[in-house]
Amino acid sequence: MKKMGFGMMRLPLKDNDDLTSINQKEVNEMVDLFMKSGYTYFDTAYPYHEGRSEVALRKALVERYPRDSYVVADKLPLFLINKEEQLEQIFNEQLERTGLDYFDYYLMHNVSGFSEDGFIGVDSFKFVNEKKAEGKIKHLGLSSHADAEYIDNILSQHPEMEFIQLQLNYLDWKNEGIQSRKCYEVARKHGIPVIVMEPLKGGFLANVPDDACKLMKDYNPDKSIVSWAMRYVTGLDDVMMVLSGVNTYKQMEENISDMENFEALSSEELSIIDEVVGIINSQIAVPCTKCNYCIAHCPKNINIPKLFDMYNNEKIENIETFTAVGNAYVNYSRVEGNGIASDCIECGLCVKECPQHIDIPTVMKDVKNTFEKELYGFNGD
Ligand code: SF4
Ligand code: SF4
Repeated sequence: MKKMGFGMMRLPLKDNDDLTSINQKEVNEMVDLFMKSGYTYFDTAYPYHEGRSEVALRKALVERYPRDSYVVADKLPLFLINKEEQLEQIFNEQLERTGLDYFDYYLMHNVSGFSEDGFIGVDSFKFVNEKKAEGKIKHLGLSSHADAEYIDNILSQHPEMEFIQLQLNYLDWKNEGIQSRKCYEVARKHGIPVIVMEPLKGGFLANVPDDACKLMKDYNPDKSIVSWAMRYVTGLDDVMMVLSGVNTYKQMEENISDMENFEALSSEELSIIDEVVGIINSQIAVPCTKCNYCIAHCPKNINIPKLFDMYNNEKIENIETFTAVGNAYVNYSRVEGNGIASDCIECGLCVKECPQHIDIPTVMKDVKNTFEKELYGFNGD
């Protein structure tokens, strides 16, 4: 099996403010290109696109290709589960949405402290093991955004896990909050292969600051910026798959081209990556990957990733771009029902959902001070 998987978490949309408005025609074309190029691994999950990712997969893949020509990974949403009876109901719903009668790979989705109700209060591990025995799951694994110690404990308790999905990328490799390298080493200690998620950190590493971009382009003008990030993780031992969360046909073409000409990074290139990480860390304001996990939990209807995206653009591109980013903020705030940064009541409900461990209410104050002071005459904290 080729090592790049199609991550169906950020599919093309008809309306960027509506996660359910998937552009099915473009998804079909992306799937066709992916399959034609010899790639076969597809990754979806129950909450992606508010349930529509699994349906888009059925329409683009399951209804159009023979079952033995691809493999599908889906996930049990532990963070939504607090009753035993939900297990069967959600699993059956997933089979129905995807149109499959078994999953090739099935993951316990984000095993971590905040999802414990879903696997300690309810015996979800027993449930998925039973499904595997029935033949409805071929390979059982887990995904996690927890720290290395937590993952080590879980894998010790569940040696039946055959693989693990981890957030690995060059920016998070040495980051003490995300602990990419340490988590990867734990997986190797337990002797299980790794599926890489967020190799581009939610697209962030496709748009690195100009200085960082120049370093990479000066070294090799023919290699795309994205290819550096993909090569970084693909070259690691025991990585069985790297998920590419593309959201356009063009990005899919570029990723496939990069993977076809794959070469592991040389020691000289790894030194350049170290410099790139230094540049990004000196400019990044909020490490939000736009996963959207927090949005549904905000009682004030604040589109947290959207505000963080504007804030990052403002901080990275400096004050001269304030008017452009500021206008985007005003446009956002005029849409009925959108909460703005000053609506945040610091309830913290979003924080426990955030795999990047961002102190959202604190950053929200900076967003408020940055945008609303100028735009609305707010005096700041
Ligand atoms: S802390 Fe603020 S942003 Fe987070 S859920 Fe509460 S109101 Fe929303
Ligand atoms: S703030 Fe955290 S949970 Fe929300 S979109 Fe960003 S990374 Fe995801």
